[in-house]
Amino acid sequence: MPHNFLSELTGSFAMPAAENPTVAMVEAAYRHHGLDWRYLNCEVSPENLGAAVAGARAMNWAGFNCSIPHKVAVIQHLDGLGTSAEIMGAVNCVVRRGKAYIGENTDGKGFLLSLRERVDPAGKTLVMFGAGGAARAIGVELALAGVKRITIVNRDSGRGQGLVDLLRAKTAVQADLAAWTSRYAVPEDTDIVVNATSIGLYPDVEARLDIDTSTLRPGMIVADVIPNPPQTRLLADAGERGCQTLDGLGMLVNQGVIGIKYWTGIDVDPAVMRRKLQELFAPPGN
Ligand code: NDP
Repeated sequence: MPHNFLSELTGSFAMPAAENPTVAMVEAAYRHHGLDWRYLNCEVSPENLGAAVAGARAMNWAGFNCSIPHKVAVIQHLDGLGTSAEIMGAVNCVVRRGKAYIGENTDGKGFLLSLRERVDPAGKTLVMFGAGGAARAIGVELALAGVKRITIVNRDSGRGQGLVDLLRAKTAVQADLAAWTSRYAVPEDTDIVVNATSIGLYPDVEARLDIDTSTLRPGMIVADVIPNPPQTRLLADAGERGCQTLDGLGMLVNQGVIGIKYWTGIDVDPAVMRRKLQELFAPPGN
């Protein structure tokens, strides 16, 4: 049999790019599954984004991730959008389908996959802190998955209302905004609590949400988007209160699982990617 030296290509366009660990996680999965695929971490400036996408097309890449600052700007260079990416107006994963490059958003889908390991979100009631990109992605995806009600709690109420308006206009979920008062009390009928703010992200690992932790009740599922460190103060508090917890590392790993499935058609083992990230995020000396 002749050799095949032509690998399938995928990658990421972002700026900055140097600290993005996705390449290590995805390539660990490619190697584990014996896939002759590559993932190139590329630093691409905003003025070069169009040329980078044209280059990916010219080289017949199977797809690529887009991160800050390209998640919105990339849309004008694509041939179409998946349902949730269209509602969010943001793309973080581009997929070659036939000759077309289609924009998807795996932020919320990664979260949903983690959540489904514990519960079917259909008909559930959610309180979500935050109204930025991660919150928008999770809110839209959970609304499309049939969540009954989403209460957004955000420091900047204008931004919070913007997300509520988007959810009401584009999905069937009941959405409302709650003021983030000091020691916010989580309503008793809440099924799922999500931190989609950046509170708790390394290096500010002791930071905690201004909530009354006694209102976290056993039976609630408490999820955090923060991937590093995976065990945030919120999750520690929730664990002590008898809640089920979901960490942000799972969401990140599941985004990889979904992206690789889109590109290769293969279901990869999330444990391989989680181990790789844990190794990378381990405090120095461990
Ligand atoms: P954005 O900058 O778009 O939004 C940040 C959000 O955090 C806003 O709602 C902001 O509130 C809130 N916030 C920040 N600091 C504070 C504070 N001190 N007190 C109260 N609210 C605060 O960021 P993203 O949505 O893109 O990302 C948020 C987090 O999600 C990041 O930490 C990122 O690491 C994580 N993430 C994790 C992913 C994963 O796969 N695990 C995927 C994507 C993101 P305000 O509007 O008032 O400024």
